[in-house]
Amino acid sequence: MSLSLDRVEIESVGSDPVRLAGALLDQLPVLDGAVPIHEIALALDILDIREAPLSGLEACLQTDHHKSYGQVVLNAASSPRRQRFSIAHELGHFLNERHGPTHEGAFACSRDDMSAPFGDPRHRRQEQEANSFAIELLAPLSRLGPYLRPVAELDHALAISDRFDISREAAVRRYVELHRDCLAAVFTRHGQVRYIEKGEGFPRVNFWVGDDLGPALRLPAPDAEGLTELDEADPHIWLTSPGRHDLFVQTLH
Ligand SMILES: [Zn+2]
Repeated sequence: MSLSLDRVEIESVGSDPVRLAGALLDQLPVLDGAVPIHEIALALDILDIREAPLSGLEACLQTDHHKSYGQVVLNAASSPRRQRFSIAHELGHFLNERHGPTHEGAFACSRDDMSAPFGDPRHRRQEQEANSFAIELLAPLSRLGPYLRPVAELDHALAISDRFDISREAAVRRYVELHRDCLAAVFTRHGQVRYIEKGEGFPRVNFWVGDDLGPALRLPAPDAEGLTELDEADPHIWLTSPGRHDLFVQTLH
């Protein structure tokens, strides 16, 4: 697919990342499958997208002072779906007039930056905005209705991942953000909390980054896909102030 996009018109909407993504989506033809992020970037003054063995980083954007052009370098070890998100994230930095390089003339973005950024407020804001831009571009709200209407289940988030060709992690974050049910996703590695993504109004959770989830995760055996049934859980284990909440837990291994 060869695309012709008007960068000036896109950037004329200002620095709000969701509006920027919306202005870009408005210029695309009607899409059925995944958003063609490589072609989009190359149509918007990104001259080159290549892979390299990056240590501790997911992607970098090199650009000049006026952002007249850009070059994106992706972590060669990351999956194609993560790389698609990385291109969209770097494009978010590139098109946003308020974003400035934080590492010697370049944007250098880690896996944390692309999921749960921390650090000084300016860095955190830029990374969060690049993520908001990326997910609105790759999984536009206007196309998510069929996935958001049913009662919440991880199956629907996994369907978003497949349909829009984004990682399961990015799809689950999007699902938690937009679903009308009160949801949170706890991302773990080796049973320890990496970060927690909470939807609006979700109560305080008992766990912090690095905590062991051992006792909380006594759940039914997963199916062949690694997914458990949605199961009622004890809110006293999970919530700081359990109140009268009913709590259901589902796990994807
Ligand atoms: Zn970034």
